[in-house]
Amino acid sequence: TSTLHTVDRVRLDRLLTEERASFAERNPRSRQAHGRGRHLLTGVPMTWMAKTAAGFPLYLDRARGARLWDVDGHELVDFCLGDTGAMAGHSPPATVAAVAARFGEQGGATTMLPTEDAAAVADELTRRFGLTQWSFALTATDANRWALRLARAVTGRPRVLVMSFSYHGSVDESFIVTGADGPQPRPGNVGAPFDVTRTSRVVEFNDVPALERELAAGDVAAVLMEPAMTNMGIVLPDPGYLAAVRELTRATGTLLINDETHTVSAGPGGCTRAWQLEPDILTIGKAIAGGVPIGAFGLSAAFAENLLARDDLDLVDTGGVGGTLAGNALSLAAARATLESSLTEEAYGRMIALSARYTAGVQGLIDEFALPWVVTQLGARSEYRFMSPGPRNGTESYASTDAELEDYLHLYLLNRGIMLTPFHNMALMCPATTEDDVDLHLRVLAGAVRSLVGA
Ligand code: PMP
Repeated sequence: TSTLHTVDRVRLDRLLTEERASFAERNPRSRQAHGRGRHLLTGVPMTWMAKTAAGFPLYLDRARGARLWDVDGHELVDFCLGDTGAMAGHSPPATVAAVAARFGEQGGATTMLPTEDAAAVADELTRRFGLTQWSFALTATDANRWALRLARAVTGRPRVLVMSFSYHGSVDESFIVTGADGPQPRPGNVGAPFDVTRTSRVVEFNDVPALERELAAGDVAAVLMEPAMTNMGIVLPDPGYLAAVRELTRATGTLLINDETHTVSAGPGGCTRAWQLEPDILTIGKAIAGGVPIGAFGLSAAFAENLLARDDLDLVDTGGVGGTLAGNALSLAAARATLESSLTEEAYGRMIALSARYTAGVQGLIDEFALPWVVTQLGARSEYRFMSPGPRNGTESYASTDAELEDYLHLYLLNRGIMLTPFHNMALMCPATTEDDVDLHLRVLAGAVRSLVGA
């Protein structure tokens, strides 16, 4: 009973065709813009932007707060929010002012010199997450990559352990999944630089015995995980699971890295603070600079001490950790303003309440139409998935993928002014999201479901 068995596939096919036609008709300028990308690989500035249910993506004109406008003049309520990069809302005023000051009046976006904003940001991240030593990157991917290097350096161990069907950015060691015949490369991995089954171990999320077995080998430098999975739908940890992970990692001398890039939706200090977790390293990116590229990793005091006691590591020059624009003045000015003025405790309170309203509304719809779906909330984030009961790990969630149904819902919503995250059905609230926005989504989704079930 995992996929939407109640759906008539012939009807779904017809509805999808209708929505595609309507999308094409509504968006002539986006289609034209797309036609001009003949020197763009796959027609878009980054190949994943080609992921679209309609043959071409909407082209952005402008965005503000929880709204964006496409080049054909449609206004959309944006629940995608740049897949978390715009969780503070699009162009939050304080961040705009800080960026204008740093880039315009003061100048010096990238000079290789530190600015006073850096210490303020690190202080604030310490206050929120509890880890005490911070360093900056430009993406969450790089924060993860560098965290893994530090973990390997300090433990002297070669391997990394991740959860099957997790996502941590384009980190080579993370493209591994479980399989009937044992661990295997994740399908579709482009030009793998090495055999990932030699660098990595993989277990299912929520599987304590498997983790115990894999860590027993003693060759894992770090477990890299999200405290709740967010990239294959939302998969919440079972009660006691994260405590067991911490116990097993400690018992085997394995470091624990919490990737809070998405789970920062749980609260100002992510799941780490909300659930009182004690990772050795925490990685983050996307949201914390209000849309300006940034990544960051925080180290526990104990881990930082072990790292700094090593005099054989080149942390300064070509040791493999660092980037020319990492820690630049612009990113840090933006992060300081975003943390101080946008992603505040008070804003989180409102965002989480809106997400609860959204989740309750979708649950009501699931109940009304007896849909075999699940809706899951993680703070300011909520997501529906086409299986019931909900998945307990990434592999189960992956198995419930229904690309056609997802395309239909995305297009139906887009054609009526609502944008969800293209790669799944994720909805994120930002400080500018309103109850009306949430209610509009629910009304439109209800229409999509009615058409689907023929009500
Ligand atoms: N970690 C997690 C949990 C993510 O979801 C992502 C991106 N979706 C990343 C890391 C990588 O972020 P970026 O692509 O900005 O490097």
